[in-house]
Amino acid sequence: MGYDLDILPLSGWIETGGLPLIISGPCSAETEEQVMETALKLAAIPQVKIFRSGIWKPRTRPGGFEGVGEKGLKWLKKVKKETGLLTTVEVANPTHIEQALKYGVDILWIGARTVVNPFSIHELASALKGVDIPVMIKNPVNPDIDLWIGALERFNKAGINKLLAIHRGFYFFEKTPFRNAPMWEIPIELKRIFPGLPVICDPSHICGRREILKEVAQKALDLEMNGLMLESHINPDIALTDKEQQVTPEYLGTLISSLVIRKIEGSVEFETKLEELRTEIDKLDAELLNIIARRMNIVDEIGEYKSTNDITILQLERWNNVVINRLRTGIRLGLDKKFLQKILEIVHEESIRRQTEIYKKRNGGKPKD
Ligand code: PEP
Ligand code: MN
Repeated sequence: MGYDLDILPLSGWIETGGLPLIISGPCSAETEEQVMETALKLAAIPQVKIFRSGIWKPRTRPGGFEGVGEKGLKWLKKVKKETGLLTTVEVANPTHIEQALKYGVDILWIGARTVVNPFSIHELASALKGVDIPVMIKNPVNPDIDLWIGALERFNKAGINKLLAIHRGFYFFEKTPFRNAPMWEIPIELKRIFPGLPVICDPSHICGRREILKEVAQKALDLEMNGLMLESHINPDIALTDKEQQVTPEYLGTLISSLVIRKIEGSVEFETKLEELRTEIDKLDAELLNIIARRMNIVDEIGEYKSTNDITILQLERWNNVVINRLRTGIRLGLDKKFLQKILEIVHEESIRRQTEIYKKRNGGKPKD
């Protein structure tokens, strides 16, 4: 099934002056004072264009702070009136949408826990049929790009063409320095599939703590993300949700001005050199694929030979020697040990898979192993 989204470019619905789009505001709206004070300070930072705030909060267990609900929408209306910032809230069901629209919220966002559920996405998209409003879609909690794409497609089919994807990191079973592992390859793949889709990064939910926000924000910009969503709070230490990752508007201002905004394209001379180097890479990749294919053909030949002689597929001692020898050669060539180990592992896995197929065909049954 091919991919096809009808997307309006970001510049078609928001003016960023060619700079990355910055969205900021508290994780949750708590009081009118907290919302207004935060918004007024954020409005003084020129790059901040959109004020975010959670009104209905998804909590893992009941009993925690679940958001202020509808009254928070009145505060957002006031933010818009007094600061000129656009406003956005997370919506998770059609009632949220109805209320957000009633109070003139400018942009809706769909949270990571909602994107995992196609039933919810279908309901939300149906509720937006005939409504012209931008929708920002966070990645699903689990690292499944198809769920993310599916959500974008469902909203697009419902007529929403002001779409934006937010990369907020993914659940990962092992401990990492992050609250949600970035797995950059997933948003990069999304951008590859949909070149016209604006993708921004949410370093707050990736990091879970202030100390590493800047590093992640910079990396996102270096990977050509179109902007950032960063949580800010007038007094993060007493925030009711996500306090370790929120920063004051002052801190945010400093963080934003410390980011290096690199050019996507360089001078003609630079582009020519880059083109030359890329051509070189293209040639080497073609050679690499050729060599891998030749290697696999020999693996098949060995497989045939072993199966006619009734020898086991896996010969551990031989494999151990191969690993030791290839690691030594690779390291001498300046390659990273972990990288080499990964390559050897997948090459070995594929060789075994191919030989298993050969055994199945020849013996008409299961190979010995
Ligand atoms: C949020 O932005 O406050 C939030 C709940 O985010 P996520 O859906 O990414 O967890
Ligand atoms: Mn949050």
